[in-house]
Amino acid sequence: MTLVDTHVHFHFPDFDADRHETIERARQAGITRFINVGTNLETSVASLHLAEEEKGFSAGAGFHPHDAARFSEVDLPQWENLARHQKIVAIGEVGLDYFRNLSPHPAQELVFRHACRIARAVDKPLILHVRDAFPDIFRVLSEEFQKGWKGVFHCFSGDVPAMKQAVAFGFHISFSAILTYKRNDELRLAAREVPSDRILLETDAPFLPPQSQRGKRNESAFMLETARCLAEVRGVTPEDIACLTTENAANLFGLAE
Ligand SMILES: [Zn+2]
Ligand SMILES: [Zn+2]
Repeated sequence: MTLVDTHVHFHFPDFDADRHETIERARQAGITRFINVGTNLETSVASLHLAEEEKGFSAGAGFHPHDAARFSEVDLPQWENLARHQKIVAIGEVGLDYFRNLSPHPAQELVFRHACRIARAVDKPLILHVRDAFPDIFRVLSEEFQKGWKGVFHCFSGDVPAMKQAVAFGFHISFSAILTYKRNDELRLAAREVPSDRILLETDAPFLPPQSQRGKRNESAFMLETARCLAEVRGVTPEDIACLTTENAANLFGLAE
């Protein structure tokens, strides 16, 4: 059984002391491929460097809505150049976060629109970070893409209607360990109904450890707990979940065997 962690931040300082050992631990647990995701230009470059060093790694080049206030159009050519790199398999993470509101909404939307334009220019999927902003994300997506697009709602936190709208738009739905949290019954309802060819798994490590590891730093090896939870919710085996999420990740991000 092998799995893909479709959203992880191994380049963050949280892993400076034991990065390689932690990646090895994930491989031992069966997680053999990783999409390491950038959150601004510097971290996207760092993410790409890691992807060039570590086997099984690809990277995302993005600009997080939290960082949107720091964005300058001067950065656009470098962002687009990065996006064309063969190891960069997605534009992200990008999106709208109206929960933490660390950047003003117009700045978030502007950066997100630039991301949509870059995704179209380089023909790569989007990795979307969306919190409490589903109506606005769908509004911008339908203005930017006449016939839908491809990508993923990472760390999905919406309800069944939001999930259905994302799927109708052409997107995948990725579940992190918040699926294992006791209070998230509504999220488990959505997880049960996602079409089989649109589900992905991720950790978002170092953030969001699963229920049994709460308070600790998250890491890719802990993703098995989310896989087991998703299997239980959908009434299938963890092996089934591993198979279908690995195939879905390979299809969406164009990962070679
Ligand atoms: Zn995110
Ligand atoms: Zn993230």
